[in-house]
Formats: sequence, C-alpha cells, structure tokens
Amino acid sequence: MRGKVLVIGAGIAGITASLGLAQAGHEVFLLEREKEVGGKGRFYSCKAAELCQQCSACLIPKTRAKLEHNPNIHILPYSMLTDFHGSPGHYRANIRLLNEIRSDLGAETSLEVQAVVAATGFEIHNPAVQAELNYEIHKQVISAYELESILAEPSKLNEKLGGLRRIGIVLCVGSRDERAHSANYCSRYCCAYAQRLALRLSYLLPNTQLNIFYTELLTASSKEIESNQIKLIRSTPAKVYGYPANSLTVRFADSYTGSVSDDEYDLLILMPAQKPTNDLSMQFPQLGLSYDENGFYKDNNPDTDGNTGVFVAGSCSGPKNIPESIAHAKATVARVLQYLAQAH
Ligand SMILES: Cc1cc2nc3c(=O)[nH]c(=O)nc-3n(C[C@H](O)[C@H](O)[C@H](O)COP(=O)(O)OP(=O)(O)OC[C@H]3O[C@@H](n4cnc5c(N)ncnc54)[C@H](O)[C@@H]3O)c2cc1C
Ligand code: SF4
Ligand code: SF4
Repeated sequence: MRGKVLVIGAGIAGITASLGLAQAGHEVFLLEREKEVGGKGRFYSCKAAELCQQCSACLIPKTRAKLEHNPNIHILPYSMLTDFHGSPGHYRANIRLLNEIRSDLGAETSLEVQAVVAATGFEIHNPAVQAELNYEIHKQVISAYELESILAEPSKLNEKLGGLRRIGIVLCVGSRDERAHSANYCSRYCCAYAQRLALRLSYLLPNTQLNIFYTELLTASSKEIESNQIKLIRSTPAKVYGYPANSLTVRFADSYTGSVSDDEYDLLILMPAQKPTNDLSMQFPQLGLSYDENGFYKDNNPDTDGNTGVFVAGSCSGPKNIPESIAHAKATVARVLQYLAQAH
C-alpha cells in the first residue's frame, strides 16, 4: 500500500531520502524552510584543477534535477512545520507556507503521514568563537563557506582574489576544540576539502602562495599536494593581527620545531566545524528525537528504538561530507521502507 512520508529539510540528504521513497511508490512531502532546495551544498563551487577532483559538489544539482516532474514528490519550499501530533503510523503535520510560491496549497495545510524523516542538516560554526583568529574583526579573515560564493562567480573571483600574494588556509576551526561553543570532535569534511581548495586556488591563481595550517591531516594523499606553491604547516595560528595595512600577520609555533614565526598573508580562509542544530527537536519534542554525545540526532534503529516512524537522515545525525550524507540517507530509506511495510 502507498504510504505518505514527511521529509523535513531539502539538503542532499532530504532530497536523496525523498527520491528513494518516491521510487518505492510512496508519496513524499519535502519540506524546506529556504526558498530553494539543495541545502548548504547548493552554493559549493566546482574544485576541478587540471582534472576533476571528485569534490562531489556537482552531485547536488544532479540529484536535485531528479526531483523535477516526480509525481510522487511534493516540494514545499519556504515552509515550516507548525504542529505535529498523533501516534506511529498516524501522524498529522500542520505546515505553514512562508510565501506564495506554492499558493495552490494555501497559506496553511494539514497532512496525514505515516512516517517522518528529519534531514535538517548541521549548523556552521561561527569562527568568532576562536577570538585569536579575529574573524569579524579583519575583513581579510573569511570562512570557507563565504569563500564558496566568491568562487562560484568568476567576476567576484578576480575582484576579491585576483592579485593576492599569500593565502593561508586554517583547518579544524572550532573542531577538535575543547573550548566552550566549539566542537570536541572531527568535522570530517575539511581535510579533503582544504586539499581540493588549495589545488583549485593554485590552478586559478598561479602566482599566489598557499599555506595550510593543520593539526592532523586525515587524508592519506594530503602530503602529496605540497609543491613550490602549496606548503603544509603543522600548527594552529596563535594570534592573527591586522597589520601591515590591508594585510594580516599570523603568529604561530611550528609543532615539530617549536619555533615561533610571524607570517604575512593577504587572506586567511577558515574551515568551520559542522555543529548540531536542534531547532526541530526543541520545537517538537513529540517527534521523540534524541541526541548522541555530541548533540546530533541519534541514529534511529527500529530494532532497538521501536517503530516510532520518525527517522533521521544525513548530517543532522553527525558531521558528514556529501557522499556520506547520501549513503546515510539511503540507509534511512531502507529503514523507512521496512517500517512502512510493517505498518500496513
Ligand atoms: C564550508 C563547507 C564546505 C563543504 N564542502 C564540501 C565539499 O566540497 N564536498 C563534500 O562532500 N562536503 C562538503 N561539505 C559538507 C556538506 O556541506 C554536507 O555533507 C552536506 O551539506 C550535508 O547535507 P544535509 O542534507 O545533511 O544537510 P544541509 O546541507 O545542512 O541541508 C539541510 C537542509 O534542511 C533545511 N532545514 C533545516 N531545518 C529545517 C526545518 N526545521 N524545517 C525545514 N527545513 C529545514 C535547511 O534549510 C537545509 O536546506 C562542506 C561543508 C562546509 C561547512
Ligand atoms: S564539482 Fe567536483 S566532482 Fe563535480 S566536476 Fe567539479 S571537481 Fe569534479
Ligand atoms: S576533517 Fe581534518 S580539518 Fe576537519 S576537523 Fe577533522 S582533522 Fe580537522
């Protein structure tokens, strides 16, 4: 029998889950609070250098395109859940449309669903917490997320990055950090991301020196990217100063030698942590979402947690890159299908 499923969050995980459920013949309501579907990854630029670097960014538009004209999926952009109640197999969800994009559904709609998939993603760490980096103080200190919008537009690229002599890339910003408001775990995407970013930038800006500050490199091939143009420095910046004019000075101690140095940079790019976002569970405790030791939603297992009909998919269950988010969403689809088969 055809079931109805509410998927909350239309990042790559929510889209993948929706496609899998629709393919199995179920009716899916894909709720997204933003105007467009695709999640954070919809802003990521291609990292190809001479060749494709398999960054997975293009999986987002490719997967999103499959949503179009799928008769089993109702996309609800600019929408939010306003009420949720019921019992496993018989849930009622009220949804408010935030504007008139899908005016045929009216301003508020009520759905009866058998299952829910929370795919609400992660929150990007605010690097201002690491006060020594002086993010938000010096405009030459930016986060990788901000850089993505520059890389996506060639006109912005020349305007903002053209002519830069030295760029620093700082890993683990807010990750593996025991301080308050930071994440004491690895965010998983950033070592490989930084490596691809450095190669992409070296390709686009052949006259720019790129130095990567790291504590531990998780990708086996990372050392291989070292060249005349790309240097790896095993250290975390101790302090960033806003001088000389329009430039930055980064003070750091090399972890191998202990020697303290001051290096000058035109731009510092920070790799922010993936942190949990719990708006949904706080607003709707009746969903029964619980947390793991890092504050992400606990993965649901009907065998041990019972058949509540509420599942999680993607990075809301822990930091993930795009392929991992897709794989997790597919595993969730298998669980939802099993649940729906038993529920009928
Ligand atoms: C700077 C940066 C660069 C990255 N680059 C790469 C890369 O190159 N390659 C790679 O593999 N990975 C990369 N990642 C990791 C990648 O962003 C994640 O793997 C991916 O975004 C996870 O997808 P998701 O669908 O789980 O979550 P998200 O992308 O966070 O999507 C969640 C969606 O849910 C919506 N939502 C949240 N709450 C609600 C609610 N209550 N109601 C309705 N909608 C809601 C959000 O608006 C959003 O659209 C990068 C991460 C960062 C921070
Ligand atoms: S977006 Fe990434 S995976 Fe796609 S072509 Fe570019 S480098 Fe390759
Ligand atoms: S993936 Fe690398 S940069 Fe990111 S938190 Fe883990 S060790 Fe740090």
